Amino acid sequence: MLPAHADVVVVGGGSCGSVVAARLSDDPDRSVLLVEAGPGYRSVLDMAAEIRDAATVPVGPHSSWTTTFPARLTPEIVTTVSRGRVLGGSGAVNGAYFVRARPGDLARWPASWSYDEVLADFRAVETDADFPGDLHGSDGPVPVARVPWERLHPVSAAFHETAVSAGFGTVDDLNAPGPDGVGRVPLNIRDGVRVGPALAYLLPVLHRTNLAVATGTDVLRVVVENGRAVGVEVADGAGIHRVTADRVVVCAGAVRSPQLLMLSGIGPADELQRLGIAVLHDLPGVGRDFTDHPEVAIGYRYRRDLPTGSPLIETVLHTDTLELRPYTVPFGTAIPGSGVADPVLGVVLTRPRSRGRVVLDPADPRSAPTLDYRYLGHPQDRADLREGVRLAADLLAAMPDIVDASGLTTHLGTSLHLSGTCRMGADDGSVVDERCRVHGIDGLSIVDTSVFPAVPSRGPHATAVMLAHRIATRAWFR
Ligand SMILES: Cc1cc2nc3c(=O)[nH]c(=O)nc-3n(C[C@H](O)[C@H](O)[C@H](O)COP(=O)(O)OP(=O)(O)OC[C@H]3O[C@@H](n4cnc5c(N)ncnc54)[C@H](O)[C@@H]3O)c2cc1C
Repeated sequence: MLPAHADVVVVGGGSCGSVVAARLSDDPDRSVLLVEAGPGYRSVLDMAAEIRDAATVPVGPHSSWTTTFPARLTPEIVTTVSRGRVLGGSGAVNGAYFVRARPGDLARWPASWSYDEVLADFRAVETDADFPGDLHGSDGPVPVARVPWERLHPVSAAFHETAVSAGFGTVDDLNAPGPDGVGRVPLNIRDGVRVGPALAYLLPVLHRTNLAVATGTDVLRVVVENGRAVGVEVADGAGIHRVTADRVVVCAGAVRSPQLLMLSGIGPADELQRLGIAVLHDLPGVGRDFTDHPEVAIGYRYRRDLPTGSPLIETVLHTDTLELRPYTVPFGTAIPGSGVADPVLGVVLTRPRSRGRVVLDPADPRSAPTLDYRYLGHPQDRADLREGVRLAADLLAAMPDIVDASGLTTHLGTSLHLSGTCRMGADDGSVVDERCRVHGIDGLSIVDTSVFPAVPSRGPHATAVMLAHRIATRAWFR
């Protein structure tokens, strides 16, 4: 049963929304309503096995846990991409790679988000099983561990050895600042279970009387009156309702957050007019100039059968501009229904220059928007990726048990790290200030990867959890 009012309504119970709702409800005097479009669960036993199992990434074509969006990676490559639509969001279905943004990434954020400023928050969200000390947390909700050297999957072990033989240094701790090289991936996995933010933060506090969680419920728009967010309009099986709130925190993810703002009349005035939406506040940056990691998957063949059931990525190699990811199993094994039979080595462009945009459909602005990535639009991106494919081919040729590395197939995709659709900053294209408050609208915040000024040079998940923790535990909502 939905309350008629909550002090704070959190829109979206994904990676960030789970953390925000849990931390804001730490104050028993604050009522919090978390609204999630996808299905929910009340305990780890209640979760579907494929959400629990860290070796499965349940985002294939028949998944019950995702929304699919049309995507144009380049003018020629049209595809679809998935995001989580379940309590825990994309963090409930992801690869469980939990690597922090680098100091250089955070240097592109407002000064209050420098590496030195946020280190305490990175530490607070985790319990690192391998590295105690000043850089790591020992009592945070998210368990972080690397696969022990002696238990690495044969592909991961061979990739590490080959990279070291090729002259790359071993990095012991990929969550410490320092030089690039090859190392074991910090994973948010405990006993084979993917411990995303819903499991780590939200389930332990579901008993609170000041926290209500409505799953299977869509937020249709933020209600804005006289320049202030005063609540949300939602749809569930029983109809359409209005819930009033003192503050609305949008955590609907990097696609739905900008869409929801636009549906609420906040966004680029020219585009809202084209869509037939009344303009309440002209914010040109909404949905524009996003970044994500282009990833070329290089398919190859193995000479022998390899074990399954390992985490999808156990080791990676970083250079200035690239991340090479030796996936331990074919996507067809890890992602039910995806049908990709060969194993792949992923080549990720970590600091892409091309910028994309979220495009709403004028015929039905509520439907899934198109993601226009404009990948490889910048010549340096093309050059860097080509260099990455060459490096990957050389490493594969030197790895034992690879069959015919000369017949490699390549396929351009995306790492699904969409960021910056509602950028944080003070410039004309920014949407929120450094405390994640939407410019020009009182009582409205966005807290998810939409607000990243740019995609970090590593996967975004650890940084997203840090962001949500930092915002929700500061005095910035009080
Ligand atoms: C398949 C996949 C694998 C990935 N693997 C990794 C990885 O291994 N490591 C890494 O660092 N990153 C990874 N990522 C990226 C990372 O998981 C995401 O960047 C991160 O989880 C995003 O968190 P978020 O809170 O911004 O959004 P989400 O976690 O996507 O949460 C948004 C939530 O809002 C809900 N919602 C949306 N609209 C509404 C609405 N109108 N009303 C109510 N609810 C709504 C959605 O259902 C969803 O639950 C992966 C992403 C995907 C999709």
